[in-house]
Amino acid sequence: MEPTLLVLNAGSSSIKFQSFATDEGELRRLFRGQIEGIGANPRLTAKDAEGGSLVERSFSGAEISDVPAAMEILSGWLREHLSGRLPMAIGHRVVHGGPDFDRPVLIDDAVLDGLDRFVALAPLHQPNNLAPIRAIRARMPDMPQVACFDTAFHRTHDELVERYAIPEWLRDEGVRRYGFHGLSYEYIAEALADVAPDRTRGRVVAAHLGSGASLCAMQDGHSVDSTMGFTALDGLPMGTRPGQIDPGVILYLIAQKHMSPADVERMLYHECGLKGLSGIGNDVRDLEASDDPRARMALEVFAFRTAREVGALATVLGGLDAVVFTAGIGEKSPWVRQAICDRLAWLGVALDAAANERNETEISRPDTRPAVYVIPTDEERMIAKHTLHILQTDTTARSMGGRHMSLEHG
Ligand code: ADP
Repeated sequence: MEPTLLVLNAGSSSIKFQSFATDEGELRRLFRGQIEGIGANPRLTAKDAEGGSLVERSFSGAEISDVPAAMEILSGWLREHLSGRLPMAIGHRVVHGGPDFDRPVLIDDAVLDGLDRFVALAPLHQPNNLAPIRAIRARMPDMPQVACFDTAFHRTHDELVERYAIPEWLRDEGVRRYGFHGLSYEYIAEALADVAPDRTRGRVVAAHLGSGASLCAMQDGHSVDSTMGFTALDGLPMGTRPGQIDPGVILYLIAQKHMSPADVERMLYHECGLKGLSGIGNDVRDLEASDDPRARMALEVFAFRTAREVGALATVLGGLDAVVFTAGIGEKSPWVRQAICDRLAWLGVALDAAANERNETEISRPDTRPAVYVIPTDEERMIAKHTLHILQTDTTARSMGGRHMSLEHG
């Protein structure tokens, strides 16, 4: 049987998973799936590499009330589906690696303690990311597990970029501009090198526009700035988050509206963005289909604010050679891409309307600069790649992985 890797991406209400075969260092997807709606209407679904359904099962909110409960159900399904064959290693998406983790790392107790310190910096995400790691360590202490961070790709930022204009003591506590969606941007940097090698060596703004949305300024494939900061609330408006907002608004909510920190947090994470603007919802498909003027306004604000930030990042880069759209909205909404690019005409951006409508890879008119691309992201494949690399290069991981290989082969 070929060796495999498992990738887990545990969020606040879902666990996404993918399994890859590692044929001579190449990664081939075997299956992917998710448990979504944790605590509300949980559903386990998985598909094989050809898109054929492997499982579709619904649960009650009480059966899967949190991420650890979802892990129990998922482990059961994986054991059944893999007939007891264990992966060589498990790679995890971990949202926060703090100031120091600038690359993926093999997990041990010291690393886990270190990552616990960042729970305060990402209270909604970090505990869910760490829960499956702990559950697996308790059951299979010899299983190599690798943490891949959303912040790591941005640790190349200059100190100038990383600083808020705040007192030194607060920065020393870790209040800095970290940047997120790093696994997606790292994947895009590599994919762009295949699609357009000459542009990768230039000044690129990548736009990850999904439920969460951000921009990354890249020079020669390395991150130099991002619209997200201390938390994943900053920058662009998102599905349900406001993006950049005057801190005075938060003070107003607390002092004048008597909202508690928990109320403010709920509002900022769940009631703003496209949902708050439109009063309809956060799905761009619904907003595009609606006749309600508020839906159009929500989309216009999203495009305006995104274009505005592309302009800011073009200043950071000192020019612009390419724009790359990715994630749900970036990959699938010609309307949003056109609305953003219309505002970037002064930079030389000119879309080929037909190519844009068909979601083609290159959507700018021939011989225009900046060129514009649509590249589907694959954060899980990036995690699998890092996990394989650690297995191949880290002697501790290799010996742990080796033990599993022998287990696997009986
Ligand atoms: P996440 O993985 O963070 O949940 P995605 O990258 O999958 O987010 O993006 C989800 C969003 O993509 C949806 O909320 C929806 O607004 C948008 N989206 C998905 N498909 C389309 C489509 N065909 N047209 C326009 N927007 C779409």
